[in-house]
Amino acid sequence: MFFGRKGLDYGNGVKGELSGLFSYLDFTLDQYARLCRTVKESKYQVLTVREFIERDSQEGHLIIMRHDVDEDARNALDMARVEHSLGIKATYYFRVRKRVNVPAIIDEIASYQHEIGYHYETLDKTRGHLKEALSLFAEELAMLRERYDIKTACMHGNPLTKYDNKKIWEICELAHFNLIGEPYLSLDYNQFLYFSDSGRTWLRDKNKVKDRVSSTNSPSVQVKHTGDLIELIDDGRHEKICILTHPERWSKNLVNYLTYYLIDLTYNTGKKLLSISKYAGMGG
Ligand SMILES: [Zn+2]
Repeated sequence: MFFGRKGLDYGNGVKGELSGLFSYLDFTLDQYARLCRTVKESKYQVLTVREFIERDSQEGHLIIMRHDVDEDARNALDMARVEHSLGIKATYYFRVRKRVNVPAIIDEIASYQHEIGYHYETLDKTRGHLKEALSLFAEELAMLRERYDIKTACMHGNPLTKYDNKKIWEICELAHFNLIGEPYLSLDYNQFLYFSDSGRTWLRDKNKVKDRVSSTNSPSVQVKHTGDLIELIDDGRHEKICILTHPERWSKNLVNYLTYYLIDLTYNTGKKLLSISKYAGMGG
């Protein structure tokens, strides 16, 4: 079944009921706007990844809002506008692929002073060939830099491939590409409370195979719904927070929501299979 982006033509009654249902759902653009308003009114200062790394002092209440744009740049633009309307600057990592690397959209996001970064997956694309992966990295980064000032890059973790894209840093340094940071290498996750929307929940679980970061920080802090995260930010007990979202999960209408819900379901099934095969000693 295909859901067009503009939606199906429902009768008014059905449409009303569906939008009523939509307002109860988590991981919608409205919920994200609530989260942003809370951040804005909280004691936290919002920094981009680049700003955090370049800063002399890392004291005080700080939040990094990081977005991995995996599937569709249009959802990222919706989020970027919400943040901009509240004066929030976030970091957007874009994959180099169709529907994501869309200059007209990324230009607008950059115009809001959000940080633009490179979401690389060159070991996946070269099927694990390190040297080819590095040249492809150089090529894709140079292409993005024709339009954007890129100082940080972040690996994409495809749950359905066996490669760890950040392995390229075992034979090369970020500085070689004039980069100053990679969130998985440059942020100390013992210092940060790290939340990711992978799997459409903020809970940290074993199925978030490649989004996992090693951290011993507050294993007891678990939030499930966006409302819980809002409370935690309101509370302000934890000084450093990093929030990772995938914009395509945060839909502004039910049709878009269902489309990505189904995609997530497929991916999560894949992740579970990958986990099971790992435990059975078969996966890599
Ligand atoms: Zn990604």
